[in-house]
Amino acid sequence: MYRTHTCGALRIEDKGKEVTLAGWVQTVRKFGSITFVDLRDRYGITQLLFNESLNARLDETPLGREYVIQVKGTVIERSNKNAKIPTGDIEIEVMDFAIMNIASVPPFTIEEDTDGGDELRMKYRYLDLRRPTLKRNLELRYKVNRAVRNYLDTQGFWDIETPFLIKSTPEGARDFIVPSRMNEGQFYALPQSPQTFKQLLMVSGYDKYYQIVKCFRDEDLRADRQPEFTQVDCEMSFVEQEDILQTFEGLFKHVFYDVKGVEMKEQFPRMTWDDAMWNYGNDKPDIRFEMKLQNLKAEGKVHAEVLNQVDFKVFAEAETILAICIPGASEYTRKQLDELTEWVKRPQIGMSGVVNVKCNADGTYKSSVDKFFNEDQLKSLASFCNATTGDLILILAGKETRTRKAMSELRLEMGNRLGFRDPSVYKPLWVIDFPLFEHDEEENRWVARHHPFTSPKPEHIALMNDLSRYAEIKANAYDIVLNGTEIGGGSIRIYQRDLQEKMFAALGMDKEEAQEKFGFLLGAFEYGAPPHGGIAFGFDRLCALLGGQETIRDFIAFPKNNAGRDVMLDAPSAVDKKQLDELSLEQKIG
Ligand code: ASP
Repeated sequence: MYRTHTCGALRIEDKGKEVTLAGWVQTVRKFGSITFVDLRDRYGITQLLFNESLNARLDETPLGREYVIQVKGTVIERSNKNAKIPTGDIEIEVMDFAIMNIASVPPFTIEEDTDGGDELRMKYRYLDLRRPTLKRNLELRYKVNRAVRNYLDTQGFWDIETPFLIKSTPEGARDFIVPSRMNEGQFYALPQSPQTFKQLLMVSGYDKYYQIVKCFRDEDLRADRQPEFTQVDCEMSFVEQEDILQTFEGLFKHVFYDVKGVEMKEQFPRMTWDDAMWNYGNDKPDIRFEMKLQNLKAEGKVHAEVLNQVDFKVFAEAETILAICIPGASEYTRKQLDELTEWVKRPQIGMSGVVNVKCNADGTYKSSVDKFFNEDQLKSLASFCNATTGDLILILAGKETRTRKAMSELRLEMGNRLGFRDPSVYKPLWVIDFPLFEHDEEENRWVARHHPFTSPKPEHIALMNDLSRYAEIKANAYDIVLNGTEIGGGSIRIYQRDLQEKMFAALGMDKEEAQEKFGFLLGAFEYGAPPHGGIAFGFDRLCALLGGQETIRDFIAFPKNNAGRDVMLDAPSAVDKKQLDELSLEQKIG
């Protein structure tokens, strides 16, 4: 038997027991004739005490960091207790030990805080995973996984696997493709999600499906994206949007309670996409704080009457003018305001400046546009913005899309600065009634906002005949948002062949192309497809949020770096010419 206990198991009640432990040497500390060793495994750390009698053996075979050893000894009470660890009241007086494997000196310290940089730790990920931080994250991930499965099991869902070698399905991103040796010149694609398969399972009658599944998207990796990531993918039949929202709100609440002990009793608030954009400037509002956008002018339409009375070119020419009120910030100094101006000028925000209006404690107003606004006009501007004494109003003006996005970023930034975004407060939100289409400016065409299988609201189907009204068409599509992060999304699907064909046509696909790409789905819709809908959650992101952290990479055992590389495996990498020949592929470069 390798061990009687783990390194996290023994307590003062075990005093006097003879035990055998096995694990990794974290530290070796020699004090005169005695040596202390911290022995680590997945479960914790136990202190070992090597007495004088073992000195000769320790001299002969010294212990090094990360050696794997086995010790036999007696549990004794520690004179110098360590309240920080659960085993801190005891230590093992070692009687005998064996080195099971030696180790090279690790390239960084394997403790809570490490001296290793990111790349180095990625290269030696198996060592980094020994650190308590990552261990806690992976434990949490396991618990979230278990909670999801338990809940869906009680609701009657079946976990059904779907293939990874498939045909390209457009979900907005680029596919990873895999050449087929047996079918010369042809390629599989890795799934961006199991979308069409889960719909086909509904056609087969498996009316409650789920899978915790890898998805692959060949996107440029913006911060904190992974080319392969995990989704909790779900689909149900004979459901309306309300059924889906109820079921998955239940899942969410269960996971929060099970994993974090957080009880979410109230129904999650719901907000339409229009309201989210109007009030927060984005479709995933952080509702831990208010500070809503004030639409002084939007898409060229003036809403704050006072703007018609002033002669200020910047405002007159702007398509959109938005404001937010920062509570208690009227005393911002010149320096602080200059710094905010620099902040909005950063390329990521891209504005040329920010106008400020101070609502002073004495009832007066002071602004950076005093030349154009008199006191009364500032007052009426403040009143339009619902500003109160002590507020600082910040105003951005410019093109609709950019200004709205910039203001939404500024709102979040001010929320951070004012401490309104406490990670221990959880505010989930459903955003509903998304537009069906989105205009792709680069390609100058309409694309599906969610994906092409999403159903328009029945009352909007008629608008699909009129290109000029595409922007008005709303879908039965929804996202779940937590603290300003989208963690899941889904929709009620199209399940009739003619409507699906109409949708493909609206996206610029002719009948032949639709048949070639999606013949299997269109065909299936002819054999009794039930009404259905579903949702998918970003599992890595959900875990990171539950762990109170921002980077999903820390919640994945073996992640890729920002360039999509696995630096431990050194992948992607070149392949042998022989492999290429077998695939009838020729390499152009390298
Ligand atoms: N397949 C969708 C996605 O990956 C989710 C869904 O509609 O269920 O975003």
